[in-house]
Amino acid sequence: LLRHLLFKLRASGPLTVAEYMREALTNPAQGYYTRRGGIGESGDFVTSPELSQVFGELIGIWYISEWIAAGKPKAFQLVELGPGRGSLTDDILRVFKQLASLLSKCDISIHLVEVSPRLSEIQAQMLTGGKVQSSPRDDAVYMKGISKTGIPISWYRDIQDVPQGYSFYLAHEFFDALPIHKFQRTEKGWREVLVDEDPEVPDQLRFVLAPSSTPAMQNFIQPEEMREHVEVCPEAGVLIQRLAHRLEKDGGAALIADYGHDGTKTDTFRGFRNHKPHDVLKAPGMADLTADVDFSYLRKMTQGRTATLGPIKQREFLKNMGIDFRLQVLLQNSQDTATQEQLRHSYDMLMNPKKMGDCFKFFALLPHHRLTHPDQKDDLQPRAPLVPVAGFSELSLK
Ligand code: SAH
Repeated sequence: LLRHLLFKLRASGPLTVAEYMREALTNPAQGYYTRRGGIGESGDFVTSPELSQVFGELIGIWYISEWIAAGKPKAFQLVELGPGRGSLTDDILRVFKQLASLLSKCDISIHLVEVSPRLSEIQAQMLTGGKVQSSPRDDAVYMKGISKTGIPISWYRDIQDVPQGYSFYLAHEFFDALPIHKFQRTEKGWREVLVDEDPEVPDQLRFVLAPSSTPAMQNFIQPEEMREHVEVCPEAGVLIQRLAHRLEKDGGAALIADYGHDGTKTDTFRGFRNHKPHDVLKAPGMADLTADVDFSYLRKMTQGRTATLGPIKQREFLKNMGIDFRLQVLLQNSQDTATQEQLRHSYDMLMNPKKMGDCFKFFALLPHHRLTHPDQKDDLQPRAPLVPVAGFSELSLK
């Protein structure tokens, strides 16, 4: 991949950081996710669903709670973006199965958006036991199967191919993998950061500043911007616009969980390899590259089509979802001390403010009518109070 990038640089000049990140992560032949996708203990980074079954279970409950609040629609799609090893959907499907009596009349289908052939195979194994049918290469649905719990699953490369309809969307550690542009304030004004060949060291890349303004810069830097360095992820913006459009038209909810900030951080672009920090410009394709999600930008890109909730810290969201009660039940049900120790350890990883508790955030997109009665202002008649959205306010036990 480095050789391919060097040829490209020599032929047409420096790359934007977004082009570099896209190649490094999802180049069809040599990208990190395409080839390695090292999620888990033996890989490059561990995610919450890989640490604890409770994480996915509580998210499953969140969707069921929203489904009930919407008046139990006859059908829903669960659409996951970037499902990794498939553990999160697997845990959610277990919850759906346990609550089968509640969901029995509901027609549920699963839709996975995944670009990595390698990870989609792992997902198929996890969710269906490997019993899947592949489609011809150019089909929008590239694979189909039935989950171990009897629910149809389809795989796509792009969200635009997922059928329209009442849907619950899920993106966990997905937005941070989308390519970012980087900009630096200089004495001559804003300049885009680019990736170029290092003239001093053979086969090494370095960051340079564009000598003049670039098209991306003119579109993405706000006049009121106060920071010295800014990262912008236009692909995330387009995706949020699509999600907001769909939710406005067909209803449902989207839950986005990732590490991120509300428009305050500057330089967050970083790499991970074998659970250690990795120089982003070294060995492209061999390490996970990531940047914090700017939730203020996502909120802005809904363009008011949906309401938003959050970002709220992961430890608060999970606490509001009842993680402490779930932990107690699991501890009581497990006989051996090793399992109990593992349960406590993964709880600490998810909840400890110094571990994943504070830096990971939850953010939701919901149709406006979910949070406010449509004609609330003019209506003098008392209305039934709207049910609070789980996770985003304190859990009250009645
Ligand atoms: N949600 C999982 C995995 C996170 S890793 C977890 O929490 O464990 C990011 C995932 O997004 C991987 O499955 C990766 O292959 C996928 N991905 C990255 N870029 C993508 C893109 N542009 N389109 C679709 N999937 C993508």
